[in-house]
Amino acid sequence: MAEGDVCGKQMTKKKQEYALLGQILGKFGAMVCPCGQVVFDGTEFEKIEAVAKKKGVWGVGRASRTSIGTSGNALDVRLPKSVVDFLELKKGQEVLIEPLDKKRFQVIVS
Ligand SMILES: [Zn+2]
Repeated sequence: MAEGDVCGKQMTKKKQEYALLGQILGKFGAMVCPCGQVVFDGTEFEKIEAVAKKKGVWGVGRASRTSIGTSGNALDVRLPKSVVDFLELKKGQEVLIEPLDKKRFQVIVS
């Protein structure tokens, strides 16, 4: 029996490109459904994990908890080291801050 998908269509085995945080990790064996669902099995996922670790993108995309501190009259946000390393941020570097809504903002590194 083919690995099931919620839509119930027949899935086919294909090599599928896998990307994490905009970095293409390569092509890996997957079951692909006509609806667009892609499932990587355990052994393929172990290969993906190994490449992601080598490229320094494994676990970086997870949300991490931090807190707001003060800096003079302004507030600052402490960044986890994994994020600093991945984005290659340096002290004093200028970035753009853009509010997205009442709960989120993004920082754009140029
Ligand atoms: Zn499907």
